[in-house]
Amino acid sequence: SFHKSKGQHILKNPMLVDSIVQKSGIKSTDVILEIGPGTGNLTKKLLECGKMVIAVELDPRMVLELQRRFQDTPYASRLKVIQGDVLKTELPYFDICVANIPYQISSPLTFKLLNHQPSFRCAIIMFQREFAMRLVAQPGDKLYCRLTVNTQLLSRVSHLLKVGKNNFRPPPKVDSSVVRIEPRKPRIEVKQKEWDGFLRICFNRKNKTLGSIFRQKSVLSLLEKNYKTLCALNIPQQGSADKDDGDFDYSRFGNLNEDQTMEVDDDGGDEEMDMDDSDAEGGDGEASEFKDKVMGVLKEGDFEEKRSSKLSLQEFLYLLSLFNKAGIHFS
Ligand code: SAM
Repeated sequence: SFHKSKGQHILKNPMLVDSIVQKSGIKSTDVILEIGPGTGNLTKKLLECGKMVIAVELDPRMVLELQRRFQDTPYASRLKVIQGDVLKTELPYFDICVANIPYQISSPLTFKLLNHQPSFRCAIIMFQREFAMRLVAQPGDKLYCRLTVNTQLLSRVSHLLKVGKNNFRPPPKVDSSVVRIEPRKPRIEVKQKEWDGFLRICFNRKNKTLGSIFRQKSVLSLLEKNYKTLCALNIPQQGSADKDDGDFDYSRFGNLNEDQTMEVDDDGGDEEMDMDDSDAEGGDGEASEFKDKVMGVLKEGDFEEKRSSKLSLQEFLYLLSLFNKAGIHFS
């Protein structure tokens, strides 16, 4: 009796389990984190390859079954089971994470892992196919979105394996994919709230031009409010470039996307594009000094006619650095 609400879909194809473990590149010295071990089909292979497996499982019945399966075997001393919700559990040190997770926790789990310190070597995770394709999307791809950029800020992600529904019991409604996530070392340091506020605005309408997004009254008034607050605090703005005020030093990220090609494919994925760039919220007609300042930043980096759906991580970092340099902040 499996719990649908807990996303319990057990891997029943042993060849697939083998293939996942093989592609993980586990070393005999590795401490492995497994999330949602269920009945332990993957756990067993992980125990064969690594030094130690720490498995976090929510369902107490599964925890019992797991313990029963490995007790009185040589593996018992190298398996540690933690019963609980992985999202609420403080994670121990681990070298590598290998997991067939419940899909409803995909996004919070990914960011929990990526913010875990000290960071691990890599994570090999089964996701719902569409979620996986969002993670690995490149600028211009249909599924390229805020999740993509946020994940790629913290890691490099690659697609490893397509997995059909029928490899699970009971079969889920959707197809799956296994991806590899490697945390960037060193991390790209951003001010989290600033970055988040910036990306939310950019992706609010990802197929509109940045020019039209930043001409919106609601966006301008938010940014102007932030601007005035900072001015009132008398924080040095423009012209204090040599001061370390915590803004991005973009030059540090010059070649961070060496493996991301930046081809602009004007033929693909434009079906959904919103060609109407006239701004329904108005504001376009109102001239203001602040608006000119914002537009000046976009012009400076040649971003006015560009769309978030086609910007690389590097370009987002650059645009935010230009805004910040002009004293324009998103938090
Ligand atoms: N790893 C097993 C396999 O491949 O056969 C089972 C995978 S099943 C998709 C997901 C497992 O995660 C279930 O055993 C479920 O009880 C457990 N689970 C669900 N939510 C969880 C949570 N928040 N924290 C930890 N485990 C969870």
